Amino acid sequence: MKSIIINQKQYFNSNATKPVAFRLEQLKKLRTVLKANEKMLTEAVYKDFQKGSYNTFLTEFAGVYVALNDAIKNVGRWSKIKRAGTSMVNFPGSSYVIPEPLGSCLVIGSWNYPINLTLVPAIAAMVAGNTVVMKPSELSAHTSAALANIISNNFDPSYFAVLEGGVDVTTEALSQPFDKIFFTGSVPVGKVVYQAASKNLVPVTLELGGKSPLIIAPDANLKTTVKRLVWGKFVNAGQTCVAPDYVLVHKSIEIDFLSTLKNEIAKGDFFLENDNYAQIISEKHFDRLTSMIEPTKVFIGGNHDRSKRFIAPTVLVNVTEDDKIMADEVFGPILPVMIYENIDDAITFIKARPKPLSLYLFSESSSLRKKIWGEISFGGGMVNDVLMHFVNESLPFGGVGNSGMGNYHGEAGFKTFSHFKSVIHRPTLLEFPLKYFPFTKLKFALIKKAFGV
Ligand code: NAD
Repeated sequence: MKSIIINQKQYFNSNATKPVAFRLEQLKKLRTVLKANEKMLTEAVYKDFQKGSYNTFLTEFAGVYVALNDAIKNVGRWSKIKRAGTSMVNFPGSSYVIPEPLGSCLVIGSWNYPINLTLVPAIAAMVAGNTVVMKPSELSAHTSAALANIISNNFDPSYFAVLEGGVDVTTEALSQPFDKIFFTGSVPVGKVVYQAASKNLVPVTLELGGKSPLIIAPDANLKTTVKRLVWGKFVNAGQTCVAPDYVLVHKSIEIDFLSTLKNEIAKGDFFLENDNYAQIISEKHFDRLTSMIEPTKVFIGGNHDRSKRFIAPTVLVNVTEDDKIMADEVFGPILPVMIYENIDDAITFIKARPKPLSLYLFSESSSLRKKIWGEISFGGGMVNDVLMHFVNESLPFGGVGNSGMGNYHGEAGFKTFSHFKSVIHRPTLLEFPLKYFPFTKLKFALIKKAFGV
């Protein structure tokens, strides 16, 4: 690992990665390599999750191609030196903001979308002109191996390398003097990463998780709400960082909501044999999830099979804040439903907890929308839909407070992996004497006048 980092630093210091032409060439190469190996990667995802090719294209590759195309289209514009205004005290002069890459960047991914959540940050590092070391999660082992294989076969490790392994490997990587660490994963490990990075003063971006609420107001279009909720909650068997974690539904529509939900889930195709759904990633996570299912509160589903790591879409009702399901992020196909009567109570409930990564509101009311946006802090979200804000390159994606720090996607990703150098260029012809010694009374009076005091 040490030699990879030394080589990457040397390569970076040779300035090879900085020209826009180099970045473009590497991004295009990655696109070609991905297309050529899409089948192999899809098979690896199948081994990890039992997900079919359509499912994997939609949830993994689509976002990567969007990120690649966006980076290829905009690398020239984003990398340009920008003019800035010049303050009076620096007159005459010209001010510039110069984007520069940070150096060798470590990207640590989580297992739930093992291709997207490693490659999209890696693309952001590349478009900004950095070298990259990528560490996919050991839990999605087949995909991690496939990524390591295609990257090592096609890229020089001095520019783009993949580390494979578990906590020991990540721990060693975190002790190295990288120039940037980009981490996607859980809150507890996010704290470990932050602490480790502080030893070398490495800047970090933390893309973490938490409990993302979904509020259903009395005026919501129930049919559409439920259709979108069911898709967003159960795609990838709920193993999605931005999945709605729990529902807060208004008391007046509870019965209608639950019966619409039951019909919608019954229509769905949630059998593993069909590969539209997904396996739970490991037996440990399976056990964690099934321990959250309180049998007396099951309204839909509840059935599971450990040998297949399968948990049916499950809805829990009469849930209170003291239930186990409300203690931590669910990160699986179990949906707790809670009732509210007054929107201010729902807002208070959310604000009493760590700031969510996502928040979803289903309502036709613009005043309610503005109230929620104004009163609750959350990473990002949607009104009348779920998840899809993740796939809009024009929107920075990231958490706030416990759900993370920093953001990426599109230009936000470029900025995350760049330093913006501020420089003033002054001509040598003109000179104003007021700042120079000796500080006389006359100069003092003049300078005060110049500042309008
Ligand atoms: P995790 O924190 O367990 O693991 C993430 C990475 O950290 C893995 O590569 C793993 O090898 C490494 N790791 C694990 N323990 C470590 C330790 N003690 N020291 C050093 N490294 C360690 O997270 P996970 O289970 O892979 O992912 C689930 C979590 O990630 C959920 O909370 C989810 O919400 C969150 N998540 C967030 C986003 C986002 O974009 N904000 C996306 C996906 C997942």
